[in-house]
Amino acid sequence: MPALILDGTKIAQLIRGEVATEARAMAAGGVRPGLAVLLVGHNPASEIYVRGKVKACEEVGVYSEKLTPPGSSTTGQLLALIEELNGRDEIDGILVQLPLPPQVDAKKVLLAVDPAKDVDGFHPMNVGFLSTQRPGLVPCTPAGVMEILKRSNIPVAGQEAVVVGRSDIVGKPVAMLLTNANATVTICHSKTRDLAGVCRRADILVAAIGRAGMITRDFVKPGATVIDVGMNTLTDPVEFARFFAGDAKREESFRKKGSALIGDVHPEVAHVAGALTPVPGGVGPLTIAMLMFNTVKAAKMRRGSRVPEMTRA
Ligand code: NAP
Repeated sequence: MPALILDGTKIAQLIRGEVATEARAMAAGGVRPGLAVLLVGHNPASEIYVRGKVKACEEVGVYSEKLTPPGSSTTGQLLALIEELNGRDEIDGILVQLPLPPQVDAKKVLLAVDPAKDVDGFHPMNVGFLSTQRPGLVPCTPAGVMEILKRSNIPVAGQEAVVVGRSDIVGKPVAMLLTNANATVTICHSKTRDLAGVCRRADILVAAIGRAGMITRDFVKPGATVIDVGMNTLTDPVEFARFFAGDAKREESFRKKGSALIGDVHPEVAHVAGALTPVPGGVGPLTIAMLMFNTVKAAKMRRGSRVPEMTRA
């Protein structure tokens, strides 16, 4: 039986609706959540991401401000900008779009963001809050993975979970969230021995690797839930055909665009897994939805005293 497809677009839409309701209630109480997005220089991919984030703010009723300092900005100039945003009460969330230009010390800039406004959840203080199960801001994509599991009624407690990837942005926080939700978690990476064998133990397998279609059917226990975080672009027609030959819809889109998106999970896994997130339309849409959620959460945590009782977390 083919895997149940976990529809991330639908789940993201639900979350955006809930966030919009919260934002409206807060606005009625005189607090409009606000997000500042820092886009340094011109990076076409970053510009697309930022456009999506600003549009999402409009949709859910979050105030947004886009700051576009030049690509020649120094670390000092960006630190001054962050300091100013830290001090502005109407800004609840500060998002620094990565990557930053090479002359900038990105770690220093990210560290300067007030942890209470760190809607990406990357600040070491929020990392610490997550690992010690204290309230804080959780990275968006990992939080989205957990929402998919929760809202699809996939049991987590007591399950064997394997996370492939140990980045600070995805792998580690996903593993921490799964641990906090009482799964038994194994983290794998490029030095893991017998990766396929370890992955086959998983009831829940999370792939956050950045390698097109690497997780083949040999990595998957029949019936397992597979969460594909990977986003890889195929441009080589031979590579494309290796994964998607016979998929008429994708073939037509590839012909038109000259590229196709693929996750870290091979399409053949749909014949083995019990449930699977598609790419596109799986984890991806959750990332922006959770950014909106975090902005409202940051506003509530920071400006809680001015939020009507009914809307407090
Ligand atoms: P990353 O920082 O490059 O980390 C990749 C991880 O995969 C590393 O821990 C690496 O191991 C591991 N890895 C690489 N090759 C491997 C192999 N052959 N076998 C086992 N492990 C291997 O990437 P990331 O930022 O976590 O992103 C991962 C993927 O998620 C990318 O495709 C990215 O585009 C996607 N992503 C999607 C979203 C979304 O919104 N859907 C958001 C963020 C990221 P080592 O640590 O040993 O090097």
